[in-house]
Amino acid sequence: MIYLDNAATTKPCEQAIKAAADTARNCFGNVSSLHKLGIESEKLMNSASKTLLNRLSCKGTIYFTSGATESNNLAIRGVADAYKRRGNRIVTTAMEHPSVARAMDALEKQGFEIVRLSPKDAIDNFEQYIADNVTKDTILVSCMAVNNENGFKVDTEKLYRLVKSANNDTVVHIDGVQGFCKVKLMGDLISISAHKIHGLKGIGALYCADKIRFSPLVYGGGQQKNLRPGTEPVELIASFEAAVKAYPTDLSHYGVLNRRLKERLGRMEDVYINSPDNSVNNILSFSVLGVRSEIMLHSLEEHDIFVSSGSACSKGKISSVPDSFGLSADRADSTIRVSFSMETTIDDIDRLADEIENGIARFRRTKSNNRTKKGNNI
Ligand code: PMP
Repeated sequence: MIYLDNAATTKPCEQAIKAAADTARNCFGNVSSLHKLGIESEKLMNSASKTLLNRLSCKGTIYFTSGATESNNLAIRGVADAYKRRGNRIVTTAMEHPSVARAMDALEKQGFEIVRLSPKDAIDNFEQYIADNVTKDTILVSCMAVNNENGFKVDTEKLYRLVKSANNDTVVHIDGVQGFCKVKLMGDLISISAHKIHGLKGIGALYCADKIRFSPLVYGGGQQKNLRPGTEPVELIASFEAAVKAYPTDLSHYGVLNRRLKERLGRMEDVYINSPDNSVNNILSFSVLGVRSEIMLHSLEEHDIFVSSGSACSKGKISSVPDSFGLSADRADSTIRVSFSMETTIDDIDRLADEIENGIARFRRTKSNNRTKKGNNI
């Protein structure tokens, strides 16, 4: 099997599986219990928080959640509620994951002014473009660090600095899911998820800087400072810590894989790279004009090669991401997203490229279809 869908989810690493099993067997106390089993679980949770903060190079608080969908909702709806008396404008982007985009839609219905900016309007300096839209009544900026469909990277340190100089009171939330452990992340609130870094599904976190407020989404027994109540899943928390510790820091291998795939695709007729130049190396989006995404995806699957037709989260729904990058309809229709892990080999890339070539020979429609060859080369 050649698994090239790591932006959708990753194979759990042995360290994460072992940590979950060991904790379930040996450290199952309720963090809130006053006896020593509770204290042991609390220690484990504190250790995991510290590991996550270290990896983020941030000071503040970690709130464990069920995953980044919850973290994003908690950050966005929580900040909107906590700061609504200060202003009602929120600036975000048109390339966000549905867990951000749909939360924004819900706030819009409640009367918030939501500004959605497209990377295509300022691809070379998106951070400045976002900051230029921050006004005195902007309470929140929410932007992803790395786009899950094409790997486009936002410099979150630069964004943070520019937004704060436009309005020091604006809270900056970063959906850091695809960037965590891969790029430097900076924000007042940062959402992360374990299953994208070889951890288990069902555990994520929201990092919160000191002095930043947000309201809870649910009410309960007071755990996690009342902001995310519910008995803490220590098994999953321990496995998240183990996955973070196991994730490598030297990611140069991704560059090698990315260059090889681009080189192979570059030799194919009517195949276009969709990932902008400023993208992470572990995600590559391209379009095989004349072959619909699903056709190519299932053709590769027949050879035990697993890729995505865009975002796994947008299954069956039309994603707004291609349009926000100015992709033509025929390019959007024929998009393939490949996302690597550190276990991916050059041989895997060559087998993928060979099978794409075979797929093109089998399935490409003739050029009499009125597809445009032009397209924008992003
Ligand atoms: N944001 C981004 C950018 C993502 O890629 C994903 C997962 N596809 C999420 C949020 C949601 O994360 P989770 O699966 O942990 O809810």
